[in-house]
Amino acid sequence: MAPRTVECRLCPKQCRIAHGEAGDCRIRMNLDGRLRAVTYGLAVAAHVDPVEKKPFYHYHPGARILSIATAGCNLHCQGCQNWQISQANPEDVEAFHLPPEEVAAVAVRERIPLIACTYTEPLAYFEYTMDTATAGNARGLKTAIVSAGYANDEPVRALFRVVDAATIDVKAFDDAYYKRWCDGGLRPVLNTLVAAREAGVWLEVSNLVVPGLTDDPARVRDLAVWMRDNLGPDTPLHFLRFVPHYKMQNLPPTPVSTLERAYGIAREAGLRYVYLGNVRGHASESTRCHACDAVVIERVGYQVRAVHLDDGRCRACRTAIPGRFGGLDV
Ligand code: SF4
Repeated sequence: MAPRTVECRLCPKQCRIAHGEAGDCRIRMNLDGRLRAVTYGLAVAAHVDPVEKKPFYHYHPGARILSIATAGCNLHCQGCQNWQISQANPEDVEAFHLPPEEVAAVAVRERIPLIACTYTEPLAYFEYTMDTATAGNARGLKTAIVSAGYANDEPVRALFRVVDAATIDVKAFDDAYYKRWCDGGLRPVLNTLVAAREAGVWLEVSNLVVPGLTDDPARVRDLAVWMRDNLGPDTPLHFLRFVPHYKMQNLPPTPVSTLERAYGIAREAGLRYVYLGNVRGHASESTRCHACDAVVIERVGYQVRAVHLDDGRCRACRTAIPGRFGGLDV
């Protein structure tokens, strides 16, 4: 009897995968009638970054984070900056054996307190993310994900029981954009954001502002208002500058004036912590207290120059700044 077709229920694509074939993400295969994550423990990247680069601006500022990824992704964003690994077949990319326990051991040995599952899609290489976070937790480390958030509710909530923080990239507050340019959809991403908030995971949101595609002021406002009403006004939002990549080489980089317009719209909608990313030297790089406007975290690019916080409170007015500050053991 021929091995059976299997269905993957990890993300809304719910691929039905024939024997020997892979799902749309290329990560999950039907091997002899069983669904397998074939990139498990096979890293295509392992870098030490400042946590600001993920981006996280309210999560252990200045800390180093060991950042890993496998090949593959369940979205196909046409402006992906990591397309060489996210859109590749795993067998076509050079990978190295890095099991979860080894990720945690390296972090401890190098005195890096944080791990990130990032660059491609940690929700699609789900088991590796889950086991890495668990191995990290056992060693007193914290694990974050940087994700597009396009997955089904059950695995998302399971993962949020073991990870400590998430930056979720909302491609656009526009389902048609997701379908046309990313091969995904908006609603599951919004569900993931709410699940992160409900799980108590530290959450930041990013949004790539692509000229002519995701810079519509009305959509920017929709995103900011939705965040304010569903995640709360203290959730940081990072507008990221687009630079041409992959299949969007024909578009120009985002004008700084467009990013500043988005910044103004989001602040006006009530979000307290809004940042512009990939615009080195911009005034919005630093974090200002929402109560008294004093600079509480000074940044230049991804570098933290000074932190004016005492126990997570603004040194000038004593207001608690939203985020996770201090308490790293390694
Ligand atoms: S995670 Fe991959 S295999 Fe599973 S449903 Fe999504 S695209 Fe398909």
